[in-house]
Amino acid sequence: MNRLFDLTGKVALVTGGSRGIGRAIALALAAHGARVAVNYATNAAAADETAAAIGGEGAAVTLAGDIAKPAQGAALVERTIAAFGRIDILVNNAGVTRDDLVLRMSEDAWDQVIDTNLKGTYSVTKAALRPMVRQRWGRIICISSVAGIVGNAGQANYAAAKAGIVGFTKSIAKEVASRNITANVIAPGFIDTEMTRDLTEGQRAEIMRMVALGRTGTPDDIAPAAVFLASDEAAYVTGHVLTVDGGLVMH
Ligand code: NAP
Repeated sequence: MNRLFDLTGKVALVTGGSRGIGRAIALALAAHGARVAVNYATNAAAADETAAAIGGEGAAVTLAGDIAKPAQGAALVERTIAAFGRIDILVNNAGVTRDDLVLRMSEDAWDQVIDTNLKGTYSVTKAALRPMVRQRWGRIICISSVAGIVGNAGQANYAAAKAGIVGFTKSIAKEVASRNITANVIAPGFIDTEMTRDLTEGQRAEIMRMVALGRTGTPDDIAPAAVFLASDEAAYVTGHVLTVDGGLVMH
C-alpha cells in the first residue's frame, strides 16, 4: 500500500487483529509507522503469522485475550501500554456471528454475539479512554457492519450488536471530543474472510446483485479507511459512520 499518512510514534491495539479484516488493518497501521498490538482469542498461530508479516524489531506484539470477558478486554489495554509505553489508536474489530432466525435463536447465541461484539467494544474502549484522556489524543475506530444499519434476516443478534456499536461510538465521540479524541465507525459490506466463507453460492449471488461495484470486498479494501481515521489529518472527523461496501447500502 502506498503510504497515505504518517503514524510514526503511534501505538495501536487491534482486537481480533490476527485474521481477516483486523489483520489487514494491523498490517496497514504498521506500514504507516505505528507499532501494533495484535489481539486474538484462540488462534495463536494466526496472530504470530500476522506479527511476523508486520516484521521489524519491536513493531508488533501478540496478545491473547477474550474481549467478551470484561477483565480480559480491559487488560489488553494495560498489556499494550506495558509493551509499548502508550496507546493512541484502538481498533475495535473482533467480532463473531451466530446466525439464526430470531424465532429459533437460542439465548446463548444472542448473548455470545452481544457479549463479544458490543460489550467487548465497551470494555476495551473504556480502558483505552483513560490514558487517551490523560494524553489529550486518541483515535477509537469501531468496526460495525451494514447489517447494523439496514438489518439482515438471520442476523438479529449481530445486527443489534452492530447497531449498538454505532450508538455507542457516537456517544463517546461526544463525551471525549474536548480531549482531542475522535471516535468513528467503519461499516463494511460483504468482505471475503473466514466469517463469510460458509455462505452458499446462491447467497453470494443474491448479495452481489445488490453491490453496485459488482464484487465482494477484501480486507485490504477496509484497511485504508482505518488508516485515515487513525491519522492526525482526520482530526475533524468524529461520530461518523463510514460504509465501505462497494455501494451495497447507500443512504
Ligand atoms: P474473522 O475473519 O472471523 O476474524 C475474526 C477475528 O476476531 C479473529 O482475529 C478472531 O481471533 C477474533 N476474535 C473473535 N472472537 C474474539 C474474542 N472473543 N476476543 C478476541 N478476539 C476475538 O472476521 P472478519 O470477517 O475479519 O471480521 C472482522 C470484523 O469485521 C468483525 O467485527 C465483523 O463483525 C466485521 N465485519 C465483517 C464483515 C465481513 O463480510 N467479513 C462485514 C461486516 C463487518 P481468533 O483468530 O483467535 O479466532
